Amino acid sequence: MAPTNDITATPAADQHISHGGKDYTTIKEGLAYILIPASASKIPQTTPKGANAPQSVFYNPIQQFNRDLSVLAIKAYGEEAIERKERSIAKNKQKIQDKKRKREDDGLRDSSRKAGKIEKEKGAIGSANPGPAAEIVSESVVEESTDTQQDKENGSVEAANAVVDNSVSIGTNGDVEMVTADEQLLVEQKAASAKTTEAPSIEAIPAKDNLSSQPKKPSFTILDALSATGLRALRYAHEIPFTTSVTANDLLPDATKSIKLNVQHNKLEDKIQTVTGNALSHMYNVACGEYKENGKPKAKYDVIDLDPYGTAAPFLDAAVQSVKEDGGLLCVTCTDAGVWASNGYPEKAFSLYGGVTIKGPQSHEGGLRLILHAIATSAAKYGLAMEPLLSLSIDFYARVFVRIHKSANEVKFLAGKTMVVYNCDEGCGAWTTQTIGKNKLAANKSGKGHFWKHVYSQAPSASEHCVHCGMKTHMAGPMYGGPMQSPEFIKKILDGLPNASKDTYQTHARIEGMLSTALEEHLPPIVEDTNSPTHPSKTNRYDPAALDLYPFFFIPSTLAKVLHCVTPHENAVRGGLRHLGYRATRSHTKGGCIKTDAPWEVIWDVMREWVKQKAPIKEGALKEGSAGWRILRLGEGEVKEGEKPNLKVVFDEKLGMERDAKKLPLPLRLLTLQTPIPNRPLPIRHPPIRNLHHHNPHILTLNKTLPPPITILSAIPPTPILLPAIKRIILQMLLLIIPFLLRASLH
Ligand SMILES: [Zn+2]
Repeated sequence: MAPTNDITATPAADQHISHGGKDYTTIKEGLAYILIPASASKIPQTTPKGANAPQSVFYNPIQQFNRDLSVLAIKAYGEEAIERKERSIAKNKQKIQDKKRKREDDGLRDSSRKAGKIEKEKGAIGSANPGPAAEIVSESVVEESTDTQQDKENGSVEAANAVVDNSVSIGTNGDVEMVTADEQLLVEQKAASAKTTEAPSIEAIPAKDNLSSQPKKPSFTILDALSATGLRALRYAHEIPFTTSVTANDLLPDATKSIKLNVQHNKLEDKIQTVTGNALSHMYNVACGEYKENGKPKAKYDVIDLDPYGTAAPFLDAAVQSVKEDGGLLCVTCTDAGVWASNGYPEKAFSLYGGVTIKGPQSHEGGLRLILHAIATSAAKYGLAMEPLLSLSIDFYARVFVRIHKSANEVKFLAGKTMVVYNCDEGCGAWTTQTIGKNKLAANKSGKGHFWKHVYSQAPSASEHCVHCGMKTHMAGPMYGGPMQSPEFIKKILDGLPNASKDTYQTHARIEGMLSTALEEHLPPIVEDTNSPTHPSKTNRYDPAALDLYPFFFIPSTLAKVLHCVTPHENAVRGGLRHLGYRATRSHTKGGCIKTDAPWEVIWDVMREWVKQKAPIKEGALKEGSAGWRILRLGEGEVKEGEKPNLKVVFDEKLGMERDAKKLPLPLRLLTLQTPIPNRPLPIRHPPIRNLHHHNPHILTLNKTLPPPITILSAIPPTPILLPAIKRIILQMLLLIIPFLLRASLH
């Protein structure tokens, strides 16, 4: 039996502590120690390594992955936030110094004028201002002017966005423009967004030792809103070094009592405050400035962590308002996958998340989008925009990390990136999406620059039966239709991983694996419109207009089941798609799945070719009228030669092998075309098979005499991942040029 210690003993793993007449043992997770009452009941629980052992109800080992990941994600976010704050503090300090110096100069000039020694004093001031000080001043001037430039750009975006016709006009393509607000509201919104640019709010706290001379340290505050044992709060305080304060809130007095004991045992009294009360009232009080700390209203939190048992939906409204508006971080867990990712309770999913679940293997991807939809719509009511950083579906729960920005303009993009899905869940599994509103890029009347219009979406975009198999489709959503991952943010966490001890972060390997998959998950459009005033190349931040055009994956075995054929290896399918010039990658939500920018017409063409080339089906295997029967066109008899699609599918397994995302260059989105492509066609989303001429090998032969249009594409480095994409762009461009050449040769 190990010796029993007092609560003040240095914490260690498997320690016995006696305090207040009760006995405890200590469990170590990360750098934190958690006290487990010896009398606490035990239940069988699964460890992160899959072992099943009885464990106290006070400690849930399976969630260690979530906690490890959260520490690393908040750290990655915080490092950048602290840098921003430090820059801002330095700038403010410089401004104060400049003002002070100016006052001193003016004072000196005044007094010297009185004394009639103006010329002499001027010389003295000159020598009192040596070189380096002058350099600092000029540096700050440069910084100011850059900021002014940035503000001007934001201003022009705002002015452009504020253009609203007073009448409903019908555009050439049938879009009806939405008149969203009267002028008064616009003025208010402009005023509100003008106040809140990216400049961080600063409540610097003086360093402890020396109040006057030490440089001020930026604050970094975290709320663990539903703290339970306080393990998260303990870990954040221990493991995120620049954290200045963590608030651990719980409804139950017994819980906060045990949190306090743990805080004392971990010697973190100077960093962790405990609050006993309803998480909602605490967050609303902070949001309204009614929660006082040292007699002053408490500032909003840099980070809020919502980690409830079940859904976080009831806490979202309060959380979006009590986290900082200049890019504060919200970390949200929802453990009710039975609601957001199942077919069982579409009505409950709608009540909690504002959308209906999607049936099929992609239900977890859909669930993440429902949760993001719930956060984004909660925030939008208050002029707050959501920027997703990382969205993961893990075991039975979802964990999303999003930033919140006060910006009336960014909120306007939400309808245009909120989508419904028409899902062929009873037939072949194909889906199409439609956004509720539409964000449309338009040229300014002056001809200088472009602006975003927010208009109605044209309806309907899909028929009630699946165009591939003729089965009934069902609707899912509305749900978030923008990108769910920020590759830059994920890379930042991954870059920090080698410095994270595998002893402290026992789920290290799984974090690395999951983040690497999530990193390659998003397929940005091949060519982006750099005319957009919100393009990252212009704003140096996320694009609020970005859409995820390829939001869901498919699974080869599910497709093979529809056709009653042998399942192709996923590398063969990926290779086939890549050979055709499409991108093919994975989703972290399911093993063996494929995400691609190929439209469903092409996916089914690939599968038809699979049956034809490699896996012929038995006669009578498919029932007449079934989805597979229709997709294989078994009722159409012999297809005439000219009607056959011109796809030449090569099941190249080597080309289809998975690649290490960490070794890939950053996604294409981060590269911009320096030379715009004239009359570039819009991305083809679901072209009918007959339009796929650009895969016709004859066209390639015909064009061999043309000079290769390499110059236009030279801005993109020809790395292996980009080659298929480049090939596709070249083919599309050739298609554009051919009619002109033909016409020219006729004249
Ligand atoms: Zn179908």
